[in-house]
Amino acid sequence: MRKYHFVLVVSLIIAALSFSGCGKQESPPQQAAPAEIPAAKTYEWKMVTTWPPNFPIFQEGVDRFAADVNTMSAGRLHIKVYAGGELVPPLQTFDAVSQGTVDIGHGAAYYWAGKIPAAQFFTAVPFGMNAQGMNAWLYGGGGWDLWRDIYAKHNLVPFPLGNTGVQMGGWFNKKIESVNDLKGLKMRIPGLGGKVFAKAGGTPVLLAGGEIYTSLERGNIDATEWVGPYHDERLGLYRAAKYYYYPGWQEPGPVLELIVNKNSYESLSNDLKKIIEVAAESSNIWMLSQFEAKNLEALHKLKEEHTVQVLPFPDDVIKALKGFTREVLEEHSATDPEFKRVYEAYSAFSKENDAWNALSEAAYQRARNLE
Ligand code: CA
Repeated sequence: MRKYHFVLVVSLIIAALSFSGCGKQESPPQQAAPAEIPAAKTYEWKMVTTWPPNFPIFQEGVDRFAADVNTMSAGRLHIKVYAGGELVPPLQTFDAVSQGTVDIGHGAAYYWAGKIPAAQFFTAVPFGMNAQGMNAWLYGGGGWDLWRDIYAKHNLVPFPLGNTGVQMGGWFNKKIESVNDLKGLKMRIPGLGGKVFAKAGGTPVLLAGGEIYTSLERGNIDATEWVGPYHDERLGLYRAAKYYYYPGWQEPGPVLELIVNKNSYESLSNDLKKIIEVAAESSNIWMLSQFEAKNLEALHKLKEEHTVQVLPFPDDVIKALKGFTREVLEEHSATDPEFKRVYEAYSAFSKENDAWNALSEAAYQRARNLE
């Protein structure tokens, strides 16, 4: 009896709803409908990075970018961020975005040196341009066009998104007084810097961030470079090495990159494309500013609390490393036309940039230091 009652009530409700629905359809509109705005298309993108979860500044900058895109697009482009290893292994970011497994990613172009040796110019070149010079080249000197052209062959659209500023030269357990002191050392130093280090008689080792401290502490490597005081202090490298050298000749202003799958990017309306571009520019400045603001405080801590000796590389060591850098760049250029093309463009801009800096930044810094 109860069951019958329930069915009857439900049937009546459905009938009532259907009737009211029909009624609405039949009644004429009260007034002309406003101009039709098409329903906004929404996108749900997955983003992968090469950074560990919660990695300060790097992963934070990426999260900031994704949140900005979501806000500026009023939720039409929602990007869910996965840190390195959460969806794909960190160093598969390039392939995952290129192949369209995900739509968007963040890392550094020199991680893909094995596939595209020329990509290294879009991150950092030993003794190359600093962050200001790299931004000038990319945004104002044709560097970004070149980068987009090269990445288009890999179905990617790249954007600068972040820069660490000038890094530190690294951690050593003995003093480096001449270039001969580098001979026989095993050092974690990636990219072109590692190739230069090999020319000096050292053995470059490639290690992910998470392996560096243990390797140095156990003596599997003799020395390491990482980022700068803020990150190096957090990694505890002062517990495994006594001498902290500067400057970071190997990475003078490495650019971090945003990569977007070309098909995904081209499927967007112009306003969403612009939102990606502007959000990337905003986080590019934000990241560099974080490094510039936080490194000195960490350096004080390293010196005062952890009694680290902070030392400059002697001039002769710097001059020798600079000579080896020229050799490495010339050798790569001789065997790889794409590398040569980017090397020539980079060098031409860098030369002009140095000439301008001589009477702007460098002259001003000198003037500022005069007593
Ligand atoms: Ca580094």
